[in-house]
Parts: sequence; C-alpha cells; structure tokens
Amino acid sequence: MKQRLKRVVSFIFYITGVTALVFRAVFSRKNQVLILLYHQIKMPGNSYEAAVSGENFERHMQFIAKKFKVVSLGDALEIMRRGEIADKPLAVITFDDGFRNNFKTAFPILTKYSVPATFFITSGSMDNHEPLWTAKVEYYFKQTSLNCLVLETLPMSCAFDLADTSKRFRACQTVKTAMKKVSDDRRRLILEEIENMIGLGSAAGHELSSEMLSWDEVRKMTADPLVSIGSHSESHRMLANTPNNVMMDELTHSKIKIEAEIGKRVRFFSYPGNSYNNQVQQCVLEAGYEAACAVDQEICVWNGDLFKLKRVHIEDGGLDYFLAQITLLMNRVRKRTNLYDRG
Ligand SMILES: [Zn+2]
Repeated sequence: MKQRLKRVVSFIFYITGVTALVFRAVFSRKNQVLILLYHQIKMPGNSYEAAVSGENFERHMQFIAKKFKVVSLGDALEIMRRGEIADKPLAVITFDDGFRNNFKTAFPILTKYSVPATFFITSGSMDNHEPLWTAKVEYYFKQTSLNCLVLETLPMSCAFDLADTSKRFRACQTVKTAMKKVSDDRRRLILEEIENMIGLGSAAGHELSSEMLSWDEVRKMTADPLVSIGSHSESHRMLANTPNNVMMDELTHSKIKIEAEIGKRVRFFSYPGNSYNNQVQQCVLEAGYEAACAVDQEICVWNGDLFKLKRVHIEDGGLDYFLAQITLLMNRVRKRTNLYDRG
C-alpha cells in the first residue's frame, strides 16, 4: 500500500474509533510482547525519511508508558517464560545500528518517561568511526545531484529515477534490499560503483563518521539501569550470506568488545538487515547469546523460539499512524482485501 494512502487510512481509522477497537482486541491477548524497533531519531538537519522525529518519538513513548508495561528484553522473556499475567500488555523498546542520535535525542526522552530500552550496537563502527554501509548508501541517494542512476553491478542492471525525494527514497530502499541479498565482495563492488557514479565517497565517510555512537556515550547510557546493550554484529554484515568462520568472528568479537567496553554481559543479538537462517541462529546460540531479535512486522507471541523474536519496525508519524503500526492495522486491511479479491 502506498505511503500516503496508508497514512490517510490510518487517520480515518483513528478518528472513527476503528483503531481503538482493534487495539483493545489485539492487546487483550496474553502471552505476547510488542517489541518495537527504531533506528534513528531525526537530529536538526537530518531529514532522512527513515528517521522518526523527536516530537513523534516522544508521543510514542508517552503513549507506550501509559498503556503498556514496558520492560527490558530480558524481563519480558522471563515474564513470558513463567507465564505470568501482567496487568497491562507487555512492550519492549529496541534500537538497531548504534547512531549517535539514540544518545542525544532518544535517551533523554526514555529517561523522562522511565521507559527501558535495548540498544543493539555495531561494535566495529564505534572502534574505527566507520559508517555503516547502509548509512553510506542512504547518504549518497540523499545528497546526489543526479536525476538518474544506472547501476551495472546489481544482480540485474537497473536504471533509477532520482527526480524527486520520494523517488530517491524508493530507489535507495530498492538498492539496499538488493545489496542485503549478495555476498560481501559483491556488495563492496556495488558500493564502489555508487560512489563512483555519485562522486561523494570521502565526503560521506567524513560526514557520517560523527553520526555513530562513541564508547563514552554508550557507557553513559549503560550507567542508567533503564538501558541495556546488545550486539548488532561487528561490521553489519548480512549473516545469511557470510561463511561460518567469518560469521562466528562477527558474533564473538562484537560480544567480547562490547562487554569489555561497558563492563556488563551482552545477552542479546539483533540480525543486521534481518539477514538470518537456521545456520545463523545456531551460530548466535553457540557464540553465547541467549536470544536474538528479527524484524517480521508482527507481535511476538511466546512459542519458546528465542532466536526469532519478532519486532515491529516503527516509521515516522503521529499517534494515529503509530497505533496503526503497532496494531498491524494495514496488514489486516491488506489480508481482508486479498480475501475479498479471491472471492
Ligand atoms: Zn542494522
């Protein structure tokens, strides 16, 4: 469903009370936890569409703190394991990647509403101030003055229309999705081609290096009992396409490094780019993690599968759109529509 249409439908459902009804039905169920996933909170000057604005993030947290029992990921798993019934539905807040705006903007809002959160950080980008490859791709598409881009190194050669912001955003999402499915070597080639075509290579490295968290900032957050730190790998590799020995290094090096820096045990992992399969899950277990988070746009129902904890990725928007996202309203509408289509 198109972005604008989704937002209009969300608003109509919100003001007509449909969202409230669905909310009550969805969250009256037991033995489930709503695990939210955020990436970036917009800083002044960062207008990238994937980031949630500080104002909207505060609206989300204010609502979540009032209507849910918000607990750490570890506590949520323990509550579900014991089959305890809480007086309110359970929710967990998570962040992926380790961007500095998590500390600057999100952390003060979390403490204001006493909301616990887990930050899954990419240890390598903290060590060498190397931006994530996903952040580089986003930067190139955001900054380029080109109106069209042809990429030969993608599995299928493609021409992308970059004439306006929404086309750029769509092109960027398409390229990132394709890059998540290829080997590291191929991904490097694609990134090089984008850098050569767009011509912003060193500027990206320079500008983006300050966007990642520093270890000092991670330690400041960890000093607050509301915060726990998990691993999002060492270099944000797509693990389903990574040889086992390299994958084990990614998993163990980041765990050891983060534990040494913060002085606390790292118990949980989140799959970079949601790239995982049975083999990856097995390696995460062998590397000493207790559980791992995926992204499936579903509410996590307790089934004992600790290495495929489902999360809902939250896009920017006010309370009406936030509620549509957490109740999975659009998925439900889409399923209904398909049913009717089939007659
Ligand atoms: Zn990530």
